[in-house]
Amino acid sequence: MIGSLPLPTHQSKTTMMRHQLTHNQLVNFLRFEIDKTETSATAVLIMKLRRAKRLDAIMGDTSTQSINHYTDQLLDGLLRDSDRYAHFSDDQICLVLPNLSNNAQSILAAIKILSELHKPFIADNCPVMLRPHIGIANFPELGRDAGQLLMYADIASDIAATDEQQYHVYKPENYIKIESYSGLDIELGKAIKANELNVHYQPQINIQTGRCVSMEALIRWTAPGQRVINPATLIDIAEKTGLINTLTLWILNTALRHTADFMKVGIDVGISVNLPPKLLEDKELPQIVQQALDIWGVPASHLTLEITESLVIDNYESSLAMLSRLRELGIRLSLDDFGTGYSSLAYLKRFPVQELKIDILFVRNIHNSHEDTNLVRTIIDLAKNFNLTTIAEGVEDQATFDLLRDLGCDLVQGFLYSRALPDTDFIKWYRQHTLALQTPVGASANPQS
Ligand code: C2E
Ligand code: CA
Ligand code: CA
Repeated sequence: MIGSLPLPTHQSKTTMMRHQLTHNQLVNFLRFEIDKTETSATAVLIMKLRRAKRLDAIMGDTSTQSINHYTDQLLDGLLRDSDRYAHFSDDQICLVLPNLSNNAQSILAAIKILSELHKPFIADNCPVMLRPHIGIANFPELGRDAGQLLMYADIASDIAATDEQQYHVYKPENYIKIESYSGLDIELGKAIKANELNVHYQPQINIQTGRCVSMEALIRWTAPGQRVINPATLIDIAEKTGLINTLTLWILNTALRHTADFMKVGIDVGISVNLPPKLLEDKELPQIVQQALDIWGVPASHLTLEITESLVIDNYESSLAMLSRLRELGIRLSLDDFGTGYSSLAYLKRFPVQELKIDILFVRNIHNSHEDTNLVRTIIDLAKNFNLTTIAEGVEDQATFDLLRDLGCDLVQGFLYSRALPDTDFIKWYRQHTLALQTPVGASANPQS
C-alpha cells in the first residue's frame, strides 16, 4: 500500500533513510492509513529532542547533521517495515506506526525508542544527550482526522516533557488537564504572596570526609486540594507566566534566611540556589544578590548559584559579563546538568565557574554502562584540568558512591544520604549524620568511613 504513495525524494544533499518521508509525505501517509481501515490501530508519535536546538546554536550545522544522522540510523534499526517518520524540525520527529494489533503497542514502541535515544553519544567530539520525550495519539480511539491526531500527539509530547516516564498517551481529559494547568499560574501568584511555598534542602557531601559541607535549595509546592506540583513544572509555569524572577528572589531570600538560622545553631554549610536563565538578563541581579546576603548576614563565599549550560548559550556574551559580575561579589558559580549539552572545552575556559555538577542521567547508570563511566571520568578529568570542583547528583547507592570516589569526584548529592528536607528536618538530619561520623562503628551508614 505504501507503493501508492510518493516515494521519498532525494532532492537534498542528505540521503533519506528507508523509513523516512518528508513532512508532507508523512501527513499523506497518515491520512492514507486511517482512511483505509475501520479497525486496525495506528499511532502518531511526536518525539521532541530537548537538546537539539541548543546544540545547533553552539555547534552549528554540523551538529544538526550529526544528530539527524544518528537518530535516522537508530530509527532505521528500530522501526518495523511498515512504520514511517519525518523530521518536522531539527528537534522534532513525527512517527506513524500503522497496523498495530492494539494501542498498547504504541507505548512499547515509544519505550524502545526512548531507551535507545536516551543513551549519550559523541557528536563532533562532544558528549551529547538528546533527552527525548514522546507524545502518543492513537487511532481509531481519537477519531479519523489526521490534523487532530497530530495536534493531540503534540499536546501529549508537552505533557511527556514533565513526566518521569518521558512519554504520554493523549487522553480526552488532557484538554481539561491543560486548563487546570493554566489555572495554576494564578494560584502560583497567590501562593508566592501567601507564603504557601516551601524551600527544602538536600545535603551535599564531601566524598573523602563524608561531611555535609553544603546543601541545595529545592522548591516545593502543594497547591490547593493537596496537589503536589512537580518542581520542574512549577518552574516552567513561573517562566511562562513571568513569575520566575519574583519566585527566584523569594527562594534566594528564604534559602539565605535558613542558612543564617543554621549558622546560629552551629551548622556552617554552604547553600546552592538554582538560577533560571531569565534572571541573568536582569541587570540588577548582582545588587539584588548582594542585598540578600547583607540582609541575612551570610558570607558571599557560602552562596553558590547553579546555572545550566543552556543558559549561557542563547546570549553568550552578555551572560558571560553577568556571570563575571556575580563572581566579583565573591559567590561561587556551578554549571548544573553538566554533560547534557555541549560541554565544550572552549566554553569552559571562559566560564567563571568553580564547580561542575554532573547530571543525574550520567550518574544513574554509571555502574551498568561503560559509556557513562567513561563520560563521567572525562568530565572529572576535565574539571581537574580547570581546577573545578565536581559534584555528582542523583547518587542513590553505595556502588555509585564508590565508583565516583574512585573516579576522583569531590562531592555527592542524592538519596543515598537524603532527599531534600524541610529546614527543621535538615537540622536533625545534619546532627545525626555528623554524630554518626564521629562514631567508629556502624560505618555502613557512612559509606566514606
Ligand atoms: P536539578 O537542579 O537538577 O535538581 C536535582 C533534582 O534531582 C531534584 O529534583 C532532586 O530532588 C533530585 N534528586 C536528588 N537526588 C536524587 C536521587 O538520588 N535520585 C533521584 N532520582 N533524584 C534525585 P526536584 O526537586 O524534583 O527538581 C527538579 C528540577 O526542578 C531541578 O533539577 C531544577 O531544574 C528545578 N528546580 C527545583 N527547585 C528549583 C528552584 O528552587 N529553583 C529553580 N530555578 N529550579 C528548581
Ligand atoms: Ca540544581
Ligand atoms: Ca540535574
